[in-house]
Amino acid sequence: MFNKILISNRGEIAIRVMRACRELGVSTVAVYSEADKNALFAKYAEEAVYIGPSPSSQSYLKIDNIIKAARETNAEAIHPGYGFLSENTLFAKACEENGIVFIGPPHEAIDAMGSKITARRTMKNAGVPIVPGIEEGVSDPDEAVDIADSIGYPVILKPAAGGGGIGMKIVNGREELMPALASSQSVARSAFADDTIYIEKYLAEPRHIEFQIMADRKGNTIHLSDRECSIQRRHQKLIEESPSPVMTEELRENMGSIAVKAAKAIGYVSAGTVEFMYSQGDFYFLEMNTRLQVEHPITEMVTGVDLAKEQILIASGEDLGYSQDDINIHGWAIECRINAEDPLNDFTPSPGKIKRYRSPGGPGIRVDSGVYTGYVIPPYYDSLISKLVAHGRNRKEAIARMERALYEYIIVPLKTNIFFHKAVLRNERFRRGDINTHFIVEENILESVKEVTERDYEKGASLASVLDADTRKIAAISAAVGSYMSQSKGGSKV
Ligand code: ADP
Repeated sequence: MFNKILISNRGEIAIRVMRACRELGVSTVAVYSEADKNALFAKYAEEAVYIGPSPSSQSYLKIDNIIKAARETNAEAIHPGYGFLSENTLFAKACEENGIVFIGPPHEAIDAMGSKITARRTMKNAGVPIVPGIEEGVSDPDEAVDIADSIGYPVILKPAAGGGGIGMKIVNGREELMPALASSQSVARSAFADDTIYIEKYLAEPRHIEFQIMADRKGNTIHLSDRECSIQRRHQKLIEESPSPVMTEELRENMGSIAVKAAKAIGYVSAGTVEFMYSQGDFYFLEMNTRLQVEHPITEMVTGVDLAKEQILIASGEDLGYSQDDINIHGWAIECRINAEDPLNDFTPSPGKIKRYRSPGGPGIRVDSGVYTGYVIPPYYDSLISKLVAHGRNRKEAIARMERALYEYIIVPLKTNIFFHKAVLRNERFRRGDINTHFIVEENILESVKEVTERDYEKGASLASVLDADTRKIAAISAAVGSYMSQSKGGSKV
C-alpha cells in the first residue's frame, strides 16, 4: 500500500478520496488554487501545496505544477477525482514518466474512449451495440445531408472530442442540418480545439442507464450494477438513482455483461462507467467515462462497496476484492446534486458566502460536500455544494428520506436548487418511475418549482425558514459547526 497519495482535485471529490485514504491509513496531499486557500479539502489533508492562481487553466489543469507538488511531497500516487485532468492522457503519461502511480486506467484505455468516434468504432468491433450512426467525422454539408437522410430524422450532431453535452445539436429535418452543423463545429472548435462532428440517430424517449465497472490489473472485471441518470437539464445530470426503475434481473445480466465486455475490449483497469441509452426496450452504448463518476455514491449505498478505496487498492497492485457473485443490490439509493444556482433564473450560478449551513442526517442519509458555515463558494469552478444521497429499503422509502433530508437542509443565503429537487420528487410521473431524459421539459418542472417555492415559504415548510426566525438556534448551530471545524484542522501544512 502507498504511504502518501496526492489528490489533484478540489471540493467534495477531493474530500471523498481523502476519506478513503484515511481509512486505509494513507496520508494525503491536497493541491489548491488561490481561491481554494480556505477550502475544507485543503485543511483536511495532512499537507497542502499551492499550485497557482484561481482559474483552473492556471492551477488544477497545470500538469507540471501538480507533478512538481507530488515529487516535492514524495507522494507515490495521484488520484485525479473527476473532471480536470481525470481523463487526460498526457497527465496519466506524465505520472508514469515521473514514477508516480496514476490511480485510474492505463493511458491507452483513456485514449481508446477519449474520442467518441474511436470509442464507437472500438465498441462496434467488440460486438457492443452502439447508437445507429456513423463512425467518422463529417465536415462537408452535402455529405452530412446524405448521412442524416440515411439514418433518418431526428438525428443528433456531436463533437467527437465532446463532453458535458457541449456542442450537441438535435436536428429534426433537412432544413435544420446546415446551420446546426456550422454551430456544432464552431462550439466544438472553441471548447475542445477540435471541430470534428459526427452524426447519430436521436433516440425517442431515451433513458440514460449506466453500469459501474471495476477491474484489476490481472483483467478481473466486474460490474456493480446500474444507475439511472435520466433526470437531466440540458444533458447535465441532476438526480440519479440505483437501480433503474426499469431494471430486471434479466436486463441487468444482459447490459452488465455487455458493459464488462466493453471494458475488457480496451484492457480497462480501475473504476469506470459504461453509459447506455435505453429506448423502447433496446439499449445502445453511448460512451465510457474512464474515471470515478460524480454519482458513484449511489452505487456504494446499494452494493456496500467502497469504490474509491477499491480504486486505491487496485492501483497499489492488489487484486479485485470482489467477484461478480459477491455483488448484490440492497434497497434503493437516490442522489440529488445540490448546486448553488437559481432554477427560477435560468439556473444562473449563485456563488458567494454561506452564512448558515447545516446538512441533513438521520437514517439512510449521506452528504458528500466540501463546504461549511462561513465558506465562500468561488465563482471559478462548478456550482456543486454537495451530493445528497438517500438510501432506503425500496424506492418509495428512498424518496421519502430524500424529501425529509431536503426539508432539513439549511444553506443560507445562497440560491440553491433544493426547491427544484423537491418539485421533481413530488411529481407523480417521477414517483411512478416513468422518466426519460425529456422529463424536466415535458413535465414543465420549472412551473412546479415556482409553486413548491411559494407554498413552502408560506407554510415555512423548511427548517431554514423556521431557524431564520430563531437566531439563537442559528447561533448554536454555527457554534457547533465552528468548533468541529477548529478541532478537525490538525496535521502539518506545507
Ligand atoms: P456528453 O459526453 O457531452 O455528456 P453524451 O454522449 O454522454 O454527451 O450524451 C449526454 C446526454 O445527451 C445523454 O445522457 C442523453 O440525454 C442525450 N443524448 C446523447 N445522445 C443521444 C441520442 N443519440 N439520442 C437521444 N439522446 C441522446
